[in-house]
Amino acid sequence: MRIGSGYDIHRLASGRKLMLGGIEIPSTKGEEAHSDGDVLLHALIDALLGSEANGDIGSHFPPCDPEWKDADSRKLLETVLKEYKHRLINIDCTILLERPKLRPHIDAIRASLADLLAMDPADISVKAKTAEGCLAEFGTGDAVAASVTLLAE
Ligand code: MG
Repeated sequence: MRIGSGYDIHRLASGRKLMLGGIEIPSTKGEEAHSDGDVLLHALIDALLGSEANGDIGSHFPPCDPEWKDADSRKLLETVLKEYKHRLINIDCTILLERPKLRPHIDAIRASLADLLAMDPADISVKAKTAEGCLAEFGTGDAVAASVTLLAE
């Protein structure tokens, strides 16, 4: 059995898409990033790499590399999955975002992850938290973070 954990955080800016788990969530702000900034997929990629003690997303996809400019994070995940030697059992994700409220989108995010990972959505948990107006940039709606824990064999 292997356990993996990943975490990512991005600032939010107007005029950017809010990408979470490979889908766009309607929002007035989205992640500022070199790639599409999908924090959930970035945390997932780090959890996958971590479970095989295989470095991190920055070592595999350097942010200075123009190849990954505005990259679709699903492509990065696909690249990592090609090399991944274990079978995923379940994954558990938490997203920290003040707005928009994610509850209406949770099942769509789970379905997207299930599709990308070829897993049963029943083995994928996605939870959303707000910062209840505090915690600096999180509370003002200017940042988003995600953490992912997974089990594989
Ligand atoms: Mg990132």
